[in-house]
Amino acid sequence: MKKEACDRDRIRKQIVETAKVLRPLVSDIAVSLYEHPETGLNEYFAADKLVGILEENGFQVERGLAGLPTSFFARKGTGKPAIAFMAEYDALPAIGHGCGHNLMAACAVAAGIACSSVIPAGSLSDGGPSWIVLGTPAEETVGGKVIMSEQGVFDDIDAAFIAHPGQRDSVGGGVAWASHPIEITFHGRSAHAGGNPQGGINALDACVQAYIAIRNLRHSLRDDVRIAGIITHGGDAQNIIPDKAVMRFTLRCTDWRYLEDVIIPRVKRCAEGAALANGTTVEFRHHENLFRDTLEHPVLKELARKNFEYIGHELNQETGGGGGVTDVGNVTWVTPSIQIGFRIGDARGHSTDMADATVTDQGIDATVDAASVLSLCAVDLLLEPELLAEAKEYLRKKVQG
Ligand SMILES: [Zn+2]
Repeated sequence: MKKEACDRDRIRKQIVETAKVLRPLVSDIAVSLYEHPETGLNEYFAADKLVGILEENGFQVERGLAGLPTSFFARKGTGKPAIAFMAEYDALPAIGHGCGHNLMAACAVAAGIACSSVIPAGSLSDGGPSWIVLGTPAEETVGGKVIMSEQGVFDDIDAAFIAHPGQRDSVGGGVAWASHPIEITFHGRSAHAGGNPQGGINALDACVQAYIAIRNLRHSLRDDVRIAGIITHGGDAQNIIPDKAVMRFTLRCTDWRYLEDVIIPRVKRCAEGAALANGTTVEFRHHENLFRDTLEHPVLKELARKNFEYIGHELNQETGGGGGVTDVGNVTWVTPSIQIGFRIGDARGHSTDMADATVTDQGIDATVDAASVLSLCAVDLLLEPELLAEAKEYLRKKVQG
């Protein structure tokens, strides 16, 4: 065997061994966060815990990036390439870690420590690599990664990895859709509905007309579109002509450009048309950020598949699915990145069963394995720089459209 191949084999074995040694740490993170669940942007306990562990392991940590106090950027080394593992650690109201983000935090920290101990920062001939563990808060609410990627946090990162627990191992099948919710407000004029209806301008009438027009848009749009809405304010009393009506729509599509360039302008035209017809005025507000669809990165997907097999996990046939949304999508348009899925049992996502499954032996073992897979992928990119170059070129072309 050539020396290079032999080294590579040794490095890969070391990664898996090191991840196994980190099992108690993985368990400690998983259990502590499970016992202290915090919702988006309140994850102070989790951020403190993770930062403490990373500092003890030699990472330099900057906190509060992009105006998000519970975010952090933990780094070892300054050379290139810079490879990041993304941690999430927000919980859900009432059901705690029912989405298993405590395991995502444990996985990212374990991968960062494993990689940096097997291939130390700065040990490559050109001064690389640097290892990064990125604390990305509030995935379930505002989408920390959306804000962080908009503010350039990922600009210097050459590849980013993340692993989400669930019912199956996967390498990104059933990818997330783009979503850009919109709030539409109509302003009219109030008047006595019985005595002086002609003196009013009915904002609710415009709202209802617009609601119907917007829902009917689906007949002339692509199939991969979801338009769902509710009227959140329709007046104050039935004997007053409503001077204000408000509705909220969630607009989703598998393609963020189609969402921005076609769907949203047409939704606005429906509302403007209804407003024009009855003399109200209309205003629009995006009450949530644009979450982009997840761009699949074939190079990373193939590496992940190979590395799941390397540690003895067989991947099932990918099922389609979709319609879900994640802030990882925005990252996939900025740097080569992948979210793998790892099986912790049969519990459904967003349930107390799922939260409980995260602290079982099976849940912890699966997290250790996921950390191995992500670490092996990262190491592959270092040992085969042409793969990283290919992944970057692929992204460049996709961004150009
Ligand atoms: Zn989740």
